[in-house]
Amino acid sequence: TKYIFVTGGVVSGIGKGISAASIGRLLKNRGFSVFMQKFDPYLNIDPGTMSPYQHGEVFVTADGAETDLDLGHYERFIDEELTKSASITTGKIYSRVIQKERRGDYDGVTVQVIPHVTDEIKSAVYRAAHETEADVIITEIGGTVGDIEGLPFIEAIRQIHSENPPEDVLYVHTVLIPAIPGSDELKTKPTQHSYKQLMSQGIKADILITRSDGEIDDSIKRKLSLFCDVSEEDVIESRHVDLIYEVPNVFREQKLDEIIMNHLHLEPKEQNSDEW
Ligand code: ADP
Repeated sequence: TKYIFVTGGVVSGIGKGISAASIGRLLKNRGFSVFMQKFDPYLNIDPGTMSPYQHGEVFVTADGAETDLDLGHYERFIDEELTKSASITTGKIYSRVIQKERRGDYDGVTVQVIPHVTDEIKSAVYRAAHETEADVIITEIGGTVGDIEGLPFIEAIRQIHSENPPEDVLYVHTVLIPAIPGSDELKTKPTQHSYKQLMSQGIKADILITRSDGEIDDSIKRKLSLFCDVSEEDVIESRHVDLIYEVPNVFREQKLDEIIMNHLHLEPKEQNSDEW
C-alpha cells in the first residue's frame, strides 16, 4: 500500500479537499484502486451534532456514518463508496483511547498523546489500508499546519513515514500564494513559513499545490523550488476554475499523476483514461 497525506498551509479553505479528491481521480484513471479518508482535528465525535450553518451539510456514508462534507467530494470525484473508516475526528480517537484506558488495555502505564493517541491515529490509517486493500490510501489532514489541534495527526503521519519504505509515503502540501493589492505582486513568503513549520514537525513536503490570486510563473516556481526544496515540476498550480470537476484535468495537464507515480514508484496499471 502507498500512502499520500495532504496537508494545508497558510490558510484554510484553499481547496485541500478538492486537491486530495482530484489526486484520487488521477490515480484511479491510471488504474489504481484508491481509498480516501479525512482526519478532522475537532473534538466532536462526528459532525452530526454541529450546526450546518457552521459546518455545512453532513455527508452520510453507506454504512451510516455522519461525516464531513469533504467525503461527498471524495465519493463524487473517485466514484468509490466510502465507509466510516473514511472519517476520523479527534473526538473518535480520544474516545477509543479512553475506552481502552477504562478497560485496562494499557496495563497500568501513563496514557499519553505520544504514543497512545498517535498510535490510535496511525491504526486508523493502517486499518483503512487493511480493510480496503486499496493500492493507495489518500488521507487529508483537516485544518492548517501549526494548529494546536492538528499536532497529534501531524506527528502520527510523520511516524508512518519512518515505519514504511520511503517510496511508499508521499506528502502533498497545499498553500496560498497571495497577491498584494495594488501591485498585484505574488508573495511566496507565507508558503516558505508554512513549509518550514511542517519541517519543524519532521515532515518534508514532496509536492506543493498552490492556489493564488494570479498565474504562477516560472520565477515563482523557481523561488518555491529553492526555498522549499522541491523540484520546479513538483510545484503544481491549482488555478481557479469555474467548475471544481475541472481540477483533475488542471492537475493532469501539469502531469501530477506521473509525478506522483514517480515519487511512489508506481508502475502504470493500464492505459491512461481521461474519462470519468
Ligand atoms: P479546504 O479543504 O482547504 O478547506 P475545500 O477543498 O473544501 O478547501 O475547498 C474550498 C472551496 O474552494 C470549495 O468551495 C471549492 O469549491 C473551492 N475550490 C477549490 N479548488 C478550487 C479551484 N481550483 N478553483 C475554484 N474553486 C476551487
